[in-house]
Amino acid sequence: MAQRVALARCESYRLPVLEDCLRRLLGLLGGISQFVKNGDRVLIKINLLSGKPPEKAVTTHPSLVEAVVNLVKEAGGIPTIGDSPGERATITGLDRAYRTAGFEEVSRKTGVPLVSFEDDVMEVNTSRGRLYKKFTVTKRIKDFDVIISIPKLKTHPLTYITAGVKNNFGFIPGLRKTEFHLKLPDGELFSEMLIDLLSTIKIDLVILDAIVAMEGNGPVGGVPRNVGAILASKNVIALDFVACQLIGYKNPLAIPTNRIAIERKIFLPGNIEISGEKIEDLQVEDFKRIPQDVSQKIPQFLIKGLKGLLSPKPKIIDQLCNRCFHCLESCPVKCVDKTKNGKLSIRYSDCIRCFCCLELCPQGAIVIKTSWWMKLFTA
Ligand code: SF4
Ligand code: SF4
Repeated sequence: MAQRVALARCESYRLPVLEDCLRRLLGLLGGISQFVKNGDRVLIKINLLSGKPPEKAVTTHPSLVEAVVNLVKEAGGIPTIGDSPGERATITGLDRAYRTAGFEEVSRKTGVPLVSFEDDVMEVNTSRGRLYKKFTVTKRIKDFDVIISIPKLKTHPLTYITAGVKNNFGFIPGLRKTEFHLKLPDGELFSEMLIDLLSTIKIDLVILDAIVAMEGNGPVGGVPRNVGAILASKNVIALDFVACQLIGYKNPLAIPTNRIAIERKIFLPGNIEISGEKIEDLQVEDFKRIPQDVSQKIPQFLIKGLKGLLSPKPKIIDQLCNRCFHCLESCPVKCVDKTKNGKLSIRYSDCIRCFCCLELCPQGAIVIKTSWWMKLFTA
């Protein structure tokens, strides 16, 4: 059976506009009652990352989450909002992230609790995992009948986009995420792991915030870009297939998680039915995407010598750095050093290109540096 992805034009974060748009969007999937029944406990899994003001386009917009909360309540559901930011996950840090990103206000207005994923954990197993057969995730998911994932559409240096599939990584509490970056420095392996994780937690509905997406140096230091769309689906991979086309990927298989899902027969190519708007009417072809790691295309016998030259690297922009040292603390191989003059530098000989530093830098002071060798290969 074809997987339906509903696509709606939406160019405003005003609550009445969002509610109207969501009703139309979910109507294309059978309405909210298809997903939420009276009395259901519903977890709304947002993308909080490091907690930035909504206009920075780092986090799911709080007004969209508020609109979903209202619809869930109308259907008789009991909503709760949750996520685990990537940085050191203290309760103060989490409270600050929720406050800065506008969710404390949503909670105050709607009475919906904001939960932490850090306290209790549990193991979930998957017989379908290729790299991982089990994961340690938040125990919170056991408390809910329904999970609605609401990611933000952004660029990402390892996975090219962060949308439906990548949002599940937030079920792994706090700094436990860093262990995966250490073991899986390569975007391909990391994507394999994300597909393993996908089969452990059932997402009932995914709604993608692509009204204002993030282009360029995502997922934290990029630039907000109007795309003017909301997408929804029961199928996380189908949604990612449509999302990447929306920002100009002609071939959805350029996104490793999409390709791996097909290779593993978790998803069938051509198995998508788009309802609502046409992609061509909303496509942003000049969206600034992540340059592809051309080292993936080089024959194995050449790769060892050339990979260092061809792979993109993180680069610290000293003028933007406020010396918070999050990058130094979170680097899984400890290759960020303080120099004698107080600046920070990266030891590229040890850097595994996991881009945790870029993801967690609160200032957007770490960017992706592309070598001229790489530009030569991609020219
Ligand atoms: S995380 Fe960013 S702002 Fe903080 S020290 Fe590192 S580069 Fe500077
Ligand atoms: S410097 Fe950044 S990209 Fe390199 S290993 Fe450390 S966290 Fe990962």
